[in-house]
Amino acid sequence: MKLSIRKYGDPALRAKGKRVVEIDNAVRELADNMLETMRGANGIGLAAQQVGQVLQLTVVDISAVEDRPSSMAWNGKEVDPKEQMPLILLNPQIETGPEKGVASEGCLSFPEISAEIERAEWAKVRAQTMTGEMVEIEATGLLARALQHEIDHLNGILFIDRMSSAARASVSSRLKRLQKETQRGLTTNRQPRTVEPAL
Ligand code: ZN
Repeated sequence: MKLSIRKYGDPALRAKGKRVVEIDNAVRELADNMLETMRGANGIGLAAQQVGQVLQLTVVDISAVEDRPSSMAWNGKEVDPKEQMPLILLNPQIETGPEKGVASEGCLSFPEISAEIERAEWAKVRAQTMTGEMVEIEATGLLARALQHEIDHLNGILFIDRMSSAARASVSSRLKRLQKETQRGLTTNRQPRTVEPAL
């Protein structure tokens, strides 16, 4: 089932996710719905906060992107990133390398807004998979960027927080408008919230 994607101005986006303690049917259903929602929106990643669930759960699938390569190691072994997609990660912890790179980034919670964002070129993530086992993922390229973006979401951090002050200034009027629209929707249109799975 596709879920409604929360937009900038929704308080769930600023909340730090709670740890997922038990991988039960509700968590499995949420992860499936998040994958469907991400794909339906042509996204490459989605965090639980973006569908209104304040949990340490994110999904990533970069396999449709041809022009921005990635490399990946799974528990220390080099693998083809596309063969590992989609990733469903619970309770991730991230470490990043010192080298930075700038690339264009968008976010499903900020329709039609994108900006050049500086991120680490290399990231290492330790997380649980849906079977509960711990995995260590090392990534570069687009995958490293997507992991940093999603794990930021799980901690209530948004890509606008990573924009340069000039980039942020150039989108500020659109941000204000989006925030107002979202807040109006939150108070007058409660219907979409009730169709989402409770957890
Ligand atoms: Zn995002």
